[in-house]
Amino acid sequence: MKIQDRDQQVYIGERVFTKYLSRDTIKARILELGRDISLDYQDKFPVFIVVLNGAFMFAADLVRATALECQLEFVKLASYEDIRSTGTVKKILGIPVPLEDRHVIIVEDIIDTGRTMSTMMEELRSMKPASISVATMLLKPECLEVSIDSTYVGFEIPDAFVIGYGLDLDGKARNLADIYQLSNEKA
Ligand code: 5GP
Repeated sequence: MKIQDRDQQVYIGERVFTKYLSRDTIKARILELGRDISLDYQDKFPVFIVVLNGAFMFAADLVRATALECQLEFVKLASYEDIRSTGTVKKILGIPVPLEDRHVIIVEDIIDTGRTMSTMMEELRSMKPASISVATMLLKPECLEVSIDSTYVGFEIPDAFVIGYGLDLDGKARNLADIYQLSNEKA
């Protein structure tokens, strides 16, 4: 189904999304985050670990907003059903560099229940980095089931599905420059 962008709304199939965070608002906030990170990591040569696919756009803007000597690495999370439990377990694929004694900044698109980030941090901690922090574009505080120390948060948002700026719906809408929120009305 073609994505139609009419003024403040995007239609994907039967679903209607309304513009929630504009590209200018996002840009301004990322400049602030970039400044904070630059101050905190001066002379630390941090490694940004970007969680694909959703964080690709945020990461590209965030690292350009920092004035740091830094390294960028990209990982994917593979989900699989754990046969001993009912839950889905995620495993990190593709950490290419040794992280021992490194300052790690995980870059994520959105934290919802926090389970993904919690697993990610646990795995990374076992690699003995000097420090780990999290930079997430969006955080849904009402949905958190595990506590996550998210050091850099773009925006705290309510419990509603969002798309755009890297975030998808069934693979669509990642290319939208603004962030849209699912509205209840039908197209
Ligand atoms: P968590 O483990 O924190 O519950 O889920 C995090 C992942 O769920 C995110 O990385 C993202 O892929 C997906 N997710 C959670 N909320 C949303 C949302 O509102 N929109 C989109 N597109 N993905 C979401």
